[in-house]
Order: sequence, then C-alpha cells, then structure tokens
Amino acid sequence: MKCTHKTGIVLLWVFFVSHVFAQISGFPAKGDASKYYNDPVIKEKVEKLLSRMTLEEKIGQLTLFAAKGIITGPGESGNIEEFIRKGQCGNIFGTKTVEDVIRLQKIAVEESRLKIPLLFGFDVIHGFKTIFPVNIGISASWDMEEIERFAHVSAEEASAAGLNWTFSPMCDISRDPRWGRVSEGCGEDSYLASHITAAMVKAYQGNDLKADNTILACVKHFIAYGAAEAGRDYNTVDMSERVLRDIYLPPYRAAIDAGAATVMTAFNEYDGIPVTANRFLLKKILREEIGFNGFVVTDFTAINELIPHGIAGDSLQAAQLAIDAGVNVDMVGNVYLFYLKQLVNSGKVSMETIDKLCGEVLKFKYYSGLFDDPFRYCKKQQSTCYYKDEYLESARNMAKKSMVLLQNNNGALPIAKGQKIALIGPFADTTREMLGSWAIAGEPSKTTTFFKGLQMRFGKENVFMEQCCKPDAEIENGFDKALKLAEQSDVILLTLGLPQSWSGEAASLTSIRLPELQTSLLREIKKAGKPIVILLVTARPLDLSQETELADAILVTWNPGTKAGEALADVLSGDYNPSGKLTMTFPRNIGQIPVYYNHKNTGRPVGFQSSSNQKYTSCYLFTPNEPLFPFGYGLSYTTFEYSDIKVKNPVAEEGDTVVVSGYVKNTGKVAGEEVIQLYIRDLIGSVTRPVRELKGFRKIFLQPGESKEVTFLITPDDLSFYRADMTFGQETGEYHVWIGGNSNATLQSEFEIK
Ligand code: BGC
Repeated sequence: MKCTHKTGIVLLWVFFVSHVFAQISGFPAKGDASKYYNDPVIKEKVEKLLSRMTLEEKIGQLTLFAAKGIITGPGESGNIEEFIRKGQCGNIFGTKTVEDVIRLQKIAVEESRLKIPLLFGFDVIHGFKTIFPVNIGISASWDMEEIERFAHVSAEEASAAGLNWTFSPMCDISRDPRWGRVSEGCGEDSYLASHITAAMVKAYQGNDLKADNTILACVKHFIAYGAAEAGRDYNTVDMSERVLRDIYLPPYRAAIDAGAATVMTAFNEYDGIPVTANRFLLKKILREEIGFNGFVVTDFTAINELIPHGIAGDSLQAAQLAIDAGVNVDMVGNVYLFYLKQLVNSGKVSMETIDKLCGEVLKFKYYSGLFDDPFRYCKKQQSTCYYKDEYLESARNMAKKSMVLLQNNNGALPIAKGQKIALIGPFADTTREMLGSWAIAGEPSKTTTFFKGLQMRFGKENVFMEQCCKPDAEIENGFDKALKLAEQSDVILLTLGLPQSWSGEAASLTSIRLPELQTSLLREIKKAGKPIVILLVTARPLDLSQETELADAILVTWNPGTKAGEALADVLSGDYNPSGKLTMTFPRNIGQIPVYYNHKNTGRPVGFQSSSNQKYTSCYLFTPNEPLFPFGYGLSYTTFEYSDIKVKNPVAEEGDTVVVSGYVKNTGKVAGEEVIQLYIRDLIGSVTRPVRELKGFRKIFLQPGESKEVTFLITPDDLSFYRADMTFGQETGEYHVWIGGNSNATLQSEFEIK
C-alpha cells in the first residue's frame, strides 16, 4: 500500500479510533486457534500418563456417559459407577448437584487403577440456577457486556455445582423459524452471532481454566445444523461450500478463535456425509484451517446414527468412520466403548491415533486443574452460591434488555401509574413457562411470574388476572371471565405465545402462527374497546399478521427467565425504555420462509423492470417480499434520528480500514438506548453479494434532545469473503454503506476500494 500524506493522516486517525472503539472494530480478529493448549509441561504429563494406560483405559477417556435420569435424546448410559471403577468412563454429563459430582469423582480417583479424574459436563445454555432469557432473547439485547455477565454468572453457578464443562455456546445460524432450536442460537446473522459466541466463550473460560469459577466451553453443533431442510430437526442439510464458509462457519470460528476448548459435532450430514464422519469438516476445516487444538465430542449418540444415516453398516464401521474423522469423545452411544478395542486389535485403528485422541482429552483435565485437586469445583458452600443478588440483577437486566417492542400504536405503552390493568391469557401467572427450554437445573419456584412482578410494581389494587385458557385449550367460561375483567380495566395486557415445550430440540413446527384459540381470545377481548398490549412469550419468530391488526402494542418478552416479572414491570412502567432488536426476521407468513435480510439481489429483483411489468420479477403473486418485522428492528418509547453519515476515506486502498461516522439524536421526550447498526453492500463481486450485510453495531444511551457522533471501522476482514476461486479476501470496487436502527436503514453513503 502506498502511503501518501492523506492516507497517513487517515491511518493515524484510524489508529486512534481503533483503540478508542476497540470493542466495535468489526469482525473478531481471525486468530490461529492452534496457539492455545500447547503447554509443554502438560504435554509431557499427558505422554507419561498415556504410557501407563491400557487400551481399555484410553477408550474410557473417549467415553461420555449421561448421569442417571438425564435423557436429552434416545437411549441412556448403563451402570456408570462400575464403568468408572474399571477406568472405562472418563467423562459424565448431566449431574445436577455437587453431591453427585463428589460421589462419582470419588469412585474415579479412589477406586480406579490410575485415579484419572472425571470431567463433568452440563447443558448450561441460558443459565444454570439463575435462568436468563432464552438465547435468541439474549441476542436481541445486542449488549456484549451484559452477555459476558450472563455467561460469567452461568459459569459461577455451574462450577459451584462441581461442573467444569458446558455444552455451549450454540453457534448455529438459522434462517428458518420452523426449527425449534432457533431459541438456543443468536439468530440469522453471522457477524452479530460471532461477537456473541466469542464473548460467551471468553466469559465461560475466563483467563484461567484452573480457576474454580471457570468452565470449558463447547462450540456446537459443528456445523450447519441450523439449516435442516424444512426446519425439521435432525433433517438433511444441503448447501454450497461458499454458503457454509461465508454464512455458517463464522460464529463457530469466532468461538474457537476465542479459545473454546471443545467442539460438538452436529447430527446432520453435510454434502452427503454426516458431520460425525466428515473428514473434510473435522480434519480439513476444523483442525487444519482453524487450528482447533481442543477435543471433539459427538452429539448424543451421533456415532450410532451413522447407521440409519446409511453410511455405516454396523457399529464397528461407525466407530471406524468417527475415529478416522478425528472424533475424540462418544456421547452416550457406547460405540467406542464396545467396538474400538476390536478395531485396534485388528490393526484398523492405530495405537498412535488412540493416543492422540485420548491425549487431547486428558490435557484438559490438567488445564482444568483436576489432577492437582479433583474436587476443585466442589468446595463452595452450596447454600450461598446460587441466586446471589448480583446474579439475579444480571438476569433481570438481561431480561429487560432482551424484550423487543414491535408495535406501540397510540402510545399504549408505557402504562401510567394508577391505571387498572387486566392481565389475561395463558402465561399470566406461570413459572416454568418463563424459564424456557434449557432450564434443567433452574427452579420454577424461584421465578417471579408476570402477575407477581406487575402487582409489585403497579400495586395489588391495580392489577387483576384472568388466565382464562391454556396455550391451546380454554378453561371453563374463561373467555367470558376475561372479557368481563377487560371491560372493567383501563388497559389489557394479553399474554399470548407458545408453550416452552414447543421450542428447543425436537420441537419443529409447520405453523408459526399462534394457536387459533389465542387469536380468538384476542378477538373476544377486543370487544371491550380498551387498549390491548400483547405480551408475546415465544422463543422463535412468529407470523403476527393478524395480531398486528388487532392489538395496539406488541412486546416480545421471549421466555424471560427467573426475573420475568420484575423485568416486565421495568419495561411496562417505562422505568426501562425498551431497546431490544430482533436478531431473526419475523415473516409475514410461513410461505416466505426462509426469509432473511442479507439475501441476494437475483437477476430479477422487484422494481428492476418498469412498474407495468412486475410479474416476471422475483416476487409472490399475493404477498410482498418484505417480512412483517425485519432483522435489527425494535421500537423504543422515544425516537431516534440519524444524520450526517460520512466516510472519512471514501476512496480507500485494499488493506485499508474504512472509517464511517454519523450522528444519532434522541428526538423524543424520554431517555433511551439505541442499537446503531451499520450495513454495507458490495455492489459488484466475482460472486454475487448480499443486498446488505451487518458490519458494525453499537449500543448507546441518549438523553432527550441529546445527539452523539458514532464511528465505525470497517476492516479488510469485514469486507472479505470467499471469492470465485474460493480464496478468502476482499475485492476492489464500490460499496454502499448505511447507518440506522434496523436492517432497512436509509441513511446511505458510498466508498470505493481501489
Ligand atoms: C443436543 C445437544 C446437547 C446434548 C446433551 C443433544 O440432544 O443436541 O445440544 O448438548 O443433547 O444434552
């Protein structure tokens, strides 16, 4: 790159802002993950230990059993204690109490020959005891500091229960709300998801895996699990390598670059080969390209499933395929346990391979400090470790920041003091429903319901409740009672949504509308002629095209977690001005799926031809292409105005960072936070490029009338993609850039890369 006077000044400036705004400086740096976990002292210890181990004991380290009663898939582990004693079970998942951990760890370190400690894993997905909102809600906060706090609290509580490994973060991008597991992810965008998954890994693992409040992270489900055909869980995935690399890979990569110790293989196939047997994915991309240096665990019985997938004739062949792909640990399936020995004895798998795979597991037992003290994570006074005030405070903050205001006609919200509130509907006073799909250790009894939270805030004399129905069945005379209550009130809060068991794993849907009964309830209540606010309890985007017509306001609460009631009261009272923004598009109807903001333009985009001849453009006959609510969307009780977008270096050279700034002003009457988003479009590429791509975001707080300049740095990495020849890098040419409050932002400028 030539350095002229002008570029010199720009570079100095770039240097300055990149330090000031390091946290928003674009895509997480692409690190070489192979720099992690190379301590020579630990390496030597592992080698020494391996030299003393029998083949059976090595296979034991490659085996993960589920604790009794834990079933998150078909099948259960056998007599755990006996296998631990014989050194044939090296890892456990699903213990809920420290007593269970101590009991099993004791068997390992006191009764097994080599006294190798066990790793204890758990699905700590959106909290352990203190439950945070479901992950799609967490992502809607766009608040990296709050997200780090959430993961840190999760690690604190889980580690206090003796656990040292979480099966999180889930890095699966998905564009299909029929898929129940969108609840566990960060939405449809790779850039945002990459920031979130990296932040979670850093917070789970901290700076020292030995610390008694850090746990190993597990990047899952590698890879492309979120692209299951027709949104049906476990279904086939078929996508180009380009889409895989550009859209699906980045969040996994960011989490691994952040130091994630373990990776979980996905159930699905990719290009005809199930991931658990896929050498291209597990060896070439994961190990060679990314440099992943931790260990790979399968998802629940994924090796066994190579048989129904139709690429292994029997368990022996399945074990061989998984070993050849470099899979370290078999979750629950017992295929390694029962078949690996035979493969080694017949020369089909070498002892070097077993040593390598086993060594990669053992080293984390050293990194976690378990050899020094196997009970390192079991020493805390249990009664004081959970639900600490500061944890509950974080859960409440996250819950209120995750809520997304989709509609607020006639200023229906916030609710003024002294108003008579009718709280109606199936989620009005529920606890378990507030917690969401992964709350295995969470206790419903510790949860504040909406009803309780609102009564505490608005006064018992002002808040009245009528559940009137279950999510899909009326309670006797429920509608009549609800209408009566509605008529006597000033404002109606109608809780609608899906039961938590309709989201998460194995919870795919072919309709994303509310159950018909709930829409009927809405129509019935409308007869009262009072303002209606829908409180939407959901862990996936829904088709709200009917509800937007019938209700005044809609607030997406997700499954808000332990502090549901307080957080809701914060938002409805206006004590907290909502700032959440959607991380998945809400479609107009199910026929639009997959619908996502960063789609391609096509050769016949709408508006391309003269208005008299729109038929032969890429559109539907009776429905617009635009979704009901786009990615990045969310209202506030105030309004924000964007102006003066400027590109500091509109003609940049390859390798330069492009600096874009603009002003945001709070033009309303109350203070509020806004998530400012930056999108780009690469106009001409060697391959077709998306119409928009998120490349920066920042959350700022503005007093009424206050205005702030925000600056974004677009790095060469941000502009890079897999080009026509499948090399990763940027291309010269023209770009559009937008700053705004959602993915339809209109304030636009341009720059060029020469
Ligand atoms: C899920 C994983 C989970 C595992 C262990 C599987 O069925 O797909 O996400 O970590 O079970 O519970």
